[in-house]
Amino acid sequence: MDNEASNHARKLTTFGQFSSVNLCPAGLKKTILPVKSFVEYRAKVDIKSLQLHELRESVRALGEAVYRARQIAEWLYKKRACSFEEMTDLPRDLRARLAGQFSLGKLEVVRVLGGQDTTKKFLFRLSDGNLVESVLIPASPALYGSRSDRRTICVSTQVGCAYGCKFCASGLEGFVRNLEPNEMVDQITTAEKASGSKIDNIVFMGMGEPLANFDNVMRAVRIINAPWGLGIGARHMTVSTSGLAPQIRRLAEEPLQIRLAVSLHGASDEVRGRIMPINRRYNIDTLLSACDYYASHKKQHLTFEYILIKNINDADEQARLLAKHARRVKAKVNLIPYNTVRGLPWSRPLQDRQERFLSILRDYGIAATLRREKGDDIEAACGQLRLQTKKTKPVSSWVSF
Ligand code: SAH
Ligand code: SF4
Repeated sequence: MDNEASNHARKLTTFGQFSSVNLCPAGLKKTILPVKSFVEYRAKVDIKSLQLHELRESVRALGEAVYRARQIAEWLYKKRACSFEEMTDLPRDLRARLAGQFSLGKLEVVRVLGGQDTTKKFLFRLSDGNLVESVLIPASPALYGSRSDRRTICVSTQVGCAYGCKFCASGLEGFVRNLEPNEMVDQITTAEKASGSKIDNIVFMGMGEPLANFDNVMRAVRIINAPWGLGIGARHMTVSTSGLAPQIRRLAEEPLQIRLAVSLHGASDEVRGRIMPINRRYNIDTLLSACDYYASHKKQHLTFEYILIKNINDADEQARLLAKHARRVKAKVNLIPYNTVRGLPWSRPLQDRQERFLSILRDYGIAATLRREKGDDIEAACGQLRLQTKKTKPVSSWVSF
């Protein structure tokens, strides 16, 4: 990292307790800060980043009856109001004071790719002009925690990504900033509005590393899960991580039964280290210990994601090692043929090789699936649409290991 970038990284990591790309376990305090702290850290908080009890506190502080908080939540998540002005059963004066204290942002739909009944990819512009992507996936039995009639959205958690995996478009230009809770919730509601379909399965697998934005992601999860929010069951939410071992342990201690997917992509340190720089910080053994910890705290099994990249990680020996790791932590394995990224040299193995890799896992008794998708058209890996559309280059940074 050059000096300018590392200065910027420092600024980003000290931005506030809610915005951290800090890998240091000392930063892993398990606290839910009261609304005051949440508000104090931001110039103007978006009202859709608040939990119901925080809404109540805010309303009370404005001298209003606490039942108003439920009315506000109803306007936000059930009636999907876009302005305080629309909340017509609130006193006019309260609406004005809410508008003075909170923002009520929305995502601008910049581009939509894909058609009815197929995968749709959305490019959204955030209120500060940054771009993020979400992918809406129709019923698919192979997806995490989903029944075949579930509609899944793949949500971004950061603008860019600091982890720089060699094969990934999201990491190509480094990290820009964490998403706020409302910006994650809004990806769901805006995609629902734009597509006219109800979403009932969420995967935090878009751009960014969710566990590096732990507090904001968990805030979003609680809002998405709450009956007063979007009302989607925790078991229908999956967080994917590139392997932040301390944060996996922290997630294990969260009471909500959300699912965990771990991006392994290499079964030996040698192979994984070549494509995922994070392996230098948390090697496979450290990662598996965190997965053990997770498995011992949760009822449901975790999933290993394993992208198959031609001549990089698709050898029989990797399949056998992967089977051993999966057995140790009772993980399911989801094999994903690599989606080519413009400008990167990687490609997916031929179908025969993919099937052979799968059959080795199955021979070892591992529950494994192979995503047999059509692929490289609009399912193109997350992060690419943003790169194609973005005109100005952001100031960016990577975590150095
Ligand atoms: N940062 C998190 C979540 C976002 S990436 C993580 O790494 O898990 C979501 C998944 O997409 C990861 O498994 C990631 O490795 C995978 N991915 C990234 N680029 C890809 C590509 N070009 N083709 C297929 N999968 C890709
Ligand atoms: Fe970041 Fe995940 Fe992409 Fe790695 S795979 S660069 S952690 S988004």
